[in-house]
Amino acid sequence: MVPHSECLEYKFTCPLPNGLHARPANLLEQVVSEFRSTISLLNLSNNKVANTRSVLSMVGADIKEGDECIIKVSGEDKETAYKELVRFIKNELSGCDDALPETAVVGDLYIPPVLAAADVSFYTGMPVVAGFGRGKVVHVEALKLPANIAGSTVDDPDTEIALLKDAVTRLQAEISVKLKSPAVSAMEKEILGAQYSIAADEELVKFACDRISGSAVNAGTALLNAFEHFSAILRDACSELIRERIVDLQDVCSQLLKMLYGSCGSDKIVLDGPSVCVAENLTPSQFISMDKTHLKALATVNGSSTSHVVILARSYGIPTLVGVKDACVGLSSGQEVFVDANYGLLVYEINEKVERFFALEDRMQSCHEEHLSAYVDKTASSADGFTLKVVANIALAAEVEAAMARGAEGVGLFRTEMLFMDRSDVPSEEEHFAEYKAAAEAADGKPVTIRTFDIGGDKEVACLDLVSEENPFLGYRGVRIYQEYETVFKSQVRAILRASAFGKLKIMIPMVTCVDEVIYVKGVLDSVMEELSAESVTFDADIELGVNIEVPSAAFIIPQLAEYVSFVSLGTNDLTQYFLAVDRGNKQVSSLYQNRHPGFLWLVNNIVEQAHSCSLKVSMCGEMAGQLENLPLLLATGIDELSVAAPAILPIKAAVGEYETSLCRDMLDKALKAKTVKHVNDILSEFSTQNSEKPVIQVSLVDLDADCINKPEVIKYVCNVLFCDRRAANAIDLEKDFWRREAVYSTGLGHGIAVPHCKTSFIKCNSICVLRLKQPVEWESLDGEPVDMIFGMTIKDVEQAGNAHMRIFSKLARNIMHEEFRDTIRNLGSEQAIVEYLFEKLELA
Ligand code: PEP
Ligand code: MG
Repeated sequence: MVPHSECLEYKFTCPLPNGLHARPANLLEQVVSEFRSTISLLNLSNNKVANTRSVLSMVGADIKEGDECIIKVSGEDKETAYKELVRFIKNELSGCDDALPETAVVGDLYIPPVLAAADVSFYTGMPVVAGFGRGKVVHVEALKLPANIAGSTVDDPDTEIALLKDAVTRLQAEISVKLKSPAVSAMEKEILGAQYSIAADEELVKFACDRISGSAVNAGTALLNAFEHFSAILRDACSELIRERIVDLQDVCSQLLKMLYGSCGSDKIVLDGPSVCVAENLTPSQFISMDKTHLKALATVNGSSTSHVVILARSYGIPTLVGVKDACVGLSSGQEVFVDANYGLLVYEINEKVERFFALEDRMQSCHEEHLSAYVDKTASSADGFTLKVVANIALAAEVEAAMARGAEGVGLFRTEMLFMDRSDVPSEEEHFAEYKAAAEAADGKPVTIRTFDIGGDKEVACLDLVSEENPFLGYRGVRIYQEYETVFKSQVRAILRASAFGKLKIMIPMVTCVDEVIYVKGVLDSVMEELSAESVTFDADIELGVNIEVPSAAFIIPQLAEYVSFVSLGTNDLTQYFLAVDRGNKQVSSLYQNRHPGFLWLVNNIVEQAHSCSLKVSMCGEMAGQLENLPLLLATGIDELSVAAPAILPIKAAVGEYETSLCRDMLDKALKAKTVKHVNDILSEFSTQNSEKPVIQVSLVDLDADCINKPEVIKYVCNVLFCDRRAANAIDLEKDFWRREAVYSTGLGHGIAVPHCKTSFIKCNSICVLRLKQPVEWESLDGEPVDMIFGMTIKDVEQAGNAHMRIFSKLARNIMHEEFRDTIRNLGSEQAIVEYLFEKLELA
């Protein structure tokens, strides 16, 4: 302690493990605010000086644990201020830094060994749309000024300063009100508290006001300048906690802009080459405005697999990661990056090994896409000529075009609830009409089934004043609420009918329990038709009406329903929960939520039978329809149509041809008699194994000139070959199983030969992939020698597999002992010769 005649100084060492981040800075600022003296803080380790009345300024001084600091106090109440500050620093500062709550959970992270070997840095995120893309970073600005405001100068800076200060005061008042609300959680309070202190930050407001008076810019521009200035300071900080404050700063500035100008102008984003779009949050309109031919991937800090923009990205097949915490802060515009939404990575350091990794990913994706693209315009047809229609589930009209491009033969479920979400008023008839007309036109004559709004249950909306219920899934939802909200319902029906003049629309009623509900809807439909006719409005008078079978009681009155409707669609998400009495969203009972329960399969089969005997078309639009492993069970029922998320369309269309429906039927008959789900799964798995029977080794599994530079590349290459030969549904799970085995012991058997292998549920049939490497690679072999011949062996993990893999493995091992075998396998001139030789030596015939 060195008292000074004019200035009192106190030297201390920062005791905070995470440095002086926003929370302790905020508390220090509160102490300071009690006094009138000038109080500054000097970080001796970097000579940065901070104004203690500004949290941003203090955080920007980048004070880390162990840094020596001096607090300097001068002014009329310096003695009392000094005493209080010393007391606070000695007694309280170190206690200001409790562990913060965990931030984004990204799920199980698996770093592909090829990339781990590349020794580069990357960000992680949660993959919500699979695939990978490469492009230049385009930051989507969270803060944007309306076009007429941006860049304009002002004649009267004082008025502009007053406007800015008024916005700050209003924002502070708004946050204070929220802080007092009992509904606000402790965590939210902490965030609001941080925002309040930023909104009240002296330096922030001063910087913006100085910009206005110094350069005659408008308040919005000054605010953007202040944001850029302070976020650059925070970005330089070493502590992650400090860097995270940029999010709060951005939030506060964006709220201030809204206070100044209302909602901000155009959201159009221009991309002029392959781009990876990086944003804190992205709005659907921003997404829609982007040229999708240039948009290679998305990485956002916030968002979830069900956010609107992710739903859109999925239907356009844009690889997407959410929860990429540092993406906005750490990446510069124009920087080249890879987003791998198969593994959940954003790689921003690119070296030769990274290029090789992505070349492997690219080849795999291309071969997959090439295979699927053949089915875009084809109708799915089984080996014995049964045709199955495959259509799309959508939630926004903007998805239709992308779904069509991905093979959809129409839309089987348009969930219209989305139109009601995130708003305080109900959508007008015109809004409904615009959406349905757009969908009808984009479908270009193909049918679009619009499900009238299914609100209630877990789908809460603020614009209908529904009271909360103890058992929402068994309560007031779907068609049950239409009579009370008849005006809202009628306006939707009017809009659908008006839009029916622009394409082929159908109407589907959600949550039907009994015939009376259908009679009611039909009554509304008839009366709306009369109204429209009276108004001379054109519509499709023969529009088809159908029922979403989601409640078991409806499944047992199909003949009665058939008097009023022309199709049914199985909503298996709800039907499963009601049939098995298992809440679809309750994790504690999720193991009981099984649509391969033999009783449920019986129900599905029975619904199709009943509906067909009443000449009704049958579709299925729940998640069960999109799970490829269920396809043989569903084909067996003779169902007419599956309605699935866009990415599932082509894989289903491609797979239908692999089955004979008569054989599927025999398998279903067995499954219906099964006692347990496990038994059903075994029957299904055995059937799939027989159905996808392929030779253990064939020419497509042999590469005599494989270009791999290390063991991780070899294993990934083997998995990719198996995936491209459609022996594995995905290469990553297979890769993990190979590495699990490799972790136990190295599979380098000596003599330059390695036999990586695994027994795995991710392979459809037993397979051996043979690679002759261009260059030997290190494998930690028994004899310490590098390897140049690879036998990648996968055995299907089913009960009947027994010790098949050990049999093949030991035969292979015995052969490897012989020089003659080794020489022959190294010198045979063609893939076919290798296949024949191995068939003989391993007695595979
Ligand atoms: C269903 O229940 O299967 C269905 C398609 O409806 P949602 O998932 O919208 O409830
Ligand atoms: Mg449902």
